[in-house]
Amino acid sequence: EQETFQCIGCGATIQTENPDEIGYLPQSALNKGIEKGEFYCQRCFKLRHYNQLQDLDIDDDVFLNKLGEIANDDAFVVLVVDIFDVEGSLISGLHRFIGNQPFIIAANKFDLLPKVTRKSKVKDWIRQTVNRHGLYPEDIVLTYGTKRAGIYTLAEKIEEVISDRNVYIVGVTNVGKSTLINQLIGYYGGDKEVITTSNHPGTTLDLIQIPLTDAHAIIDTPGIIRRTQLAHHLSRSDNQKVLPSKPLKPKTFQLNEGQTIFLAGVGRVDLVQSEVEKTAMTFYVSTELYLHRTKTENADELYQKHVGEMLAPPSKDYVDEYPELVEQTFTLDPTQDISITGLGWLTVNAKVDIKVWLPKEISVSKRTAII
Ligand code: GDP
Repeated sequence: EQETFQCIGCGATIQTENPDEIGYLPQSALNKGIEKGEFYCQRCFKLRHYNQLQDLDIDDDVFLNKLGEIANDDAFVVLVVDIFDVEGSLISGLHRFIGNQPFIIAANKFDLLPKVTRKSKVKDWIRQTVNRHGLYPEDIVLTYGTKRAGIYTLAEKIEEVISDRNVYIVGVTNVGKSTLINQLIGYYGGDKEVITTSNHPGTTLDLIQIPLTDAHAIIDTPGIIRRTQLAHHLSRSDNQKVLPSKPLKPKTFQLNEGQTIFLAGVGRVDLVQSEVEKTAMTFYVSTELYLHRTKTENADELYQKHVGEMLAPPSKDYVDEYPELVEQTFTLDPTQDISITGLGWLTVNAKVDIKVWLPKEISVSKRTAII
């Protein structure tokens, strides 16, 4: 039988096969570890030495089992969601796993919203969205991990509870969890000793502990992949065009009835009817996303002809994998936005009827305008 080794940092069984899974260590580093008689997996090594958390793909069952442990701890859970993809960020049945533990939502990447965005409206909308999915957080904080200032409100919340409870930070991949935790680590002055040494290898497995007080810690659980995220229908480079990475700048079109705007090849919006002759339709989406105007009567043909080329993303090699566009009709007025999960939102300056075309699993919904 082959000898197994455990990571001192997280307790995971060391493996040399798969860099994306827990306990990974390159063979060369394993050999060194055998000489020294101690092992840190690559993830813990990086966290110790570079204050850096690494992404990790592990399958959903492992993740959900980990979440199950939270139910039996004195836990305070922070669910990190991407402000651009709230629905794609939700862990369905969270309560089945964390029981009745109190939790808050960190609505992350807030730095990408225009400065004039009204915080209270954003929070109201997030609350309504998560309530629709059966989640009732104690609070919602707006965060970003890209600057120290982006975590202050979250840090305050954590300080309120950390003397009594372990803080668990959970979230699906891409929501910015690693960036946020690294910022928290920096904030708490953590460097070399960010990981507790486990006296019982194997017991904490892949939960990474960042001790704040003698008794209580921030614990990072590995991310889970949500397959309803728009991100999973697009290649990595296509995703960089779709997901905003710079603060959004509104882009306005003056439209007549019977005109359509393509969101590259990802989706489209048709102006069916309007109470005014020229309707200003404003898009808050990534500046990298190409918006193309055409007549609705030509839209189907244009899409067939140009998707993957002029209308990309999805880029050519990925067009076949991209789901079919399905239409939904909305009546919209200037006090409302249409929010498209993973992409952003749009507003109009008059009462209109529109059709929004997207893959059917992408959530499109009407909300009170946030600007
Ligand atoms: P994780 O998979 O949830 O751990 O997400 P990461 O921390 O790896 O972040 C995913 C992507 O979002 C990366 O490209 C980050 O640079 C970016 N990102 C993460 N947090 C923020 C944020 O607060 N603001 C902005 N603008 N980008 C962010």
